[in-house]
Amino acid sequence: MPELPEVQALVDFLAERTDGLAITKVELASFSVLKTFDPPPQALEGSPIDGVSRHGKFLDIDADGVHLIFHLARAGWLRWSEQLPTTVVRPGKSPIALRVRLSDGSGFDLTEAGTKKSLAAYIVRDPREVPGVSRLGPDPLADDFTREEFGRLLEGRRMQIKGLLRDQEVIAGVGNAYSDEILHVAKVSPFAIAGSLPVEVVDRLYAALRDTLSGAVRTASGKPAAELKDAKRAGMRVHGRTGQTCPECGDVVREVSFHDTSLQYCATCQTGGKPLADRRMSKLLK
Ligand SMILES: [Zn+2]
Repeated sequence: MPELPEVQALVDFLAERTDGLAITKVELASFSVLKTFDPPPQALEGSPIDGVSRHGKFLDIDADGVHLIFHLARAGWLRWSEQLPTTVVRPGKSPIALRVRLSDGSGFDLTEAGTKKSLAAYIVRDPREVPGVSRLGPDPLADDFTREEFGRLLEGRRMQIKGLLRDQEVIAGVGNAYSDEILHVAKVSPFAIAGSLPVEVVDRLYAALRDTLSGAVRTASGKPAAELKDAKRAGMRVHGRTGQTCPECGDVVREVSFHDTSLQYCATCQTGGKPLADRRMSKLLK
C-alpha cells in the first residue's frame, strides 16, 4: 500500500508528466470505483490540468476546477503509459479500474489486484467533499506540524501508539509500513499507550516521524511510478522483514499478526527484550 512518501512521489511524477496537458477521456472499467456521480467523468474531459497535489494518501488532479481524487488503498496502483493503447478498457477483463487519457496520447490506469476492492475515486468541485479528505488530521511533513502539535495529538489518548499513528483522522498519510518503521527508529513498543508516553519518548517519536517520512520522500522522489513499490520495500528496516536481522542490534525481527494484517518490530530495540504476545502463535500453541 502506498503511503505518504510514495503518494508524494506519484504527485511529483504526475505533476511533471502532465504539465501543459489536458484530460481528453476518462474511461471507467469498474463502476464501483467511482464513489461520486456529479460532476460526471465527462466534466473532466477537455480540461487542462492545473495541478497535482496530495491530501494524506489521496491524490488530487485539478483539471480546471474539477478534481479527480483517488485513494489507491491496499492493492491499488497507478500505471503510467507514455502511449496508451487506443482500445477502450472493458469492465471485468483486467485489473484496470479507471483509465485517464491525456492530450498527447499518454495517460494512466488505476489498477487493483485481488478480489477485495477498495480503490476509490471521486470527481468533485471541492476536495473537502470527499469524506476521507475532510476528516484528515494534519500532514506530518507540513512546516507547521511542530513537536507541540504532535504532543497535543497524543494527550489523553488511551490508544496504542501504533494504531494512533495509522489513524488518518489523527495524522494524515502514515500506514502500516511506515508506522512500524517510525516506532523502530524511536525505539517504542507498538502497543505503548499514546497518552502515557514520557516527554522524552514523545520527542524521539516526533523526530522519528519527521525523519523517517522525509527520508522516504527523498528516496522515492524522482522515481517513476513503476519503481516505487520496490523502492519502498527495499528501504524498510523492520516492516515486512519477519525473521530477518534488526539493522540496529542484530536481534531477529519479530511479528504480531492480526486477522488481516501484521506488524513487525524488534524486541531488543523496542520492548525491553520481551517478545509481544502474538494471537496467531498463542492460538497455535493452545
Ligand atoms: Zn533491534
